[in-house]
Amino acid sequence: MNTELFHIQDPKGHEQEIAHVADILRTGGLAVFPTETVYGLGGLATSEHAAKAIYEAKGRPSDNPLIIHVAAPEDAEPYAVTSEIYYRLAAQFMPGPLTVILSKKETIPHAVTGGLDTVAVRCPAHPVARALIEAVGAPVAAPSANRSGRPSPTCAAHAIEDLSGRVAAIIDGGECEVGLESTIIKLEGDKGILLRPGAITADALSCVCEVSIAPAVTAALAENERPLSPGMKYRHYAPHAPLVLLDGAQDAVLRYLQNESADPAVGILCYDEELPLLSGKATLFPIGKKEDLPTQARRLFAALREADTHPALTKLYAHLPPPNGLGLALYNRCIRAAAHTVKKID
Ligand code: AMP
Ligand code: MG
Repeated sequence: MNTELFHIQDPKGHEQEIAHVADILRTGGLAVFPTETVYGLGGLATSEHAAKAIYEAKGRPSDNPLIIHVAAPEDAEPYAVTSEIYYRLAAQFMPGPLTVILSKKETIPHAVTGGLDTVAVRCPAHPVARALIEAVGAPVAAPSANRSGRPSPTCAAHAIEDLSGRVAAIIDGGECEVGLESTIIKLEGDKGILLRPGAITADALSCVCEVSIAPAVTAALAENERPLSPGMKYRHYAPHAPLVLLDGAQDAVLRYLQNESADPAVGILCYDEELPLLSGKATLFPIGKKEDLPTQARRLFAALREADTHPALTKLYAHLPPPNGLGLALYNRCIRAAAHTVKKID
């Protein structure tokens, strides 16, 4: 398939191109578009055919449900059973990087929800995503625009790498502002369960409703070192070289990394301020300053992809992020990329 490429940072002045991509989606085709979290692989959310095409293009098991994207919170009405809490969350966080799981209505095929009777609803803030969904006039089902198992794409080049030739169009809207997938909260009555941490933190959600954190979010928090192989099914964003997360006091971890950095087969996802302190023999991937979690969130997936372009690397190290605030989202992605391999440094 020939993939058309468009460059649209701001929908103003690009109405015709957006209408063209909206037509592709409305008629059952697939298109990649930018959002503030990561790039999405979009298809018409009311179409079983489009859902199947998305799973095929991604190489994703069809029991892993898709998120439906709406232009405004109330646009979810024909597709999901909304509630007072949904609208309270919407008033605070939509449009934005929050996905809410609600009971689905019959308008959404089971092919989209992986057979579940619930549906994930998100209203993205990115102006190109919003203009596109508005032009489609229906919700757009979109998982992250990566091949299954690869890190989510945070710029168009990543999506092109994974999906060129598999989709009808890709809109390049520049680098994603957040860089990690949306926070997912499941509503049960007036309580919420955090299923996936993201830029909307558990503390922020707690201001609206009671929130508990699903155990899977922080699983293996207390673990020290674990063999890689049994954790394979948890290995989501796995780089080719196995990733080990280092947990310990900053100076002890730095000393350990200084030692390891003498090995040219080692890659390190390091803090910016560590660059001059580590040996040039290792390959260094700076992900931002230690205290600058938003930059780390923005750069993490690109760094994991970059590491994969160095076939000589046999081991990767990164710091174990702090499991609170935005750190919890980084922690959650890192433990998956590392298949829960955490090494305690004393
Ligand atoms: P992605 O689109 O790649 O960000 O992945 C979407 C994720 O949303 C899936 O992996 C699921 O974990 C989650 N999800 C989507 N729909 C549901 C649902 N109905 N119930 C629980 N989780 C969901
Ligand atoms: Mg994904």
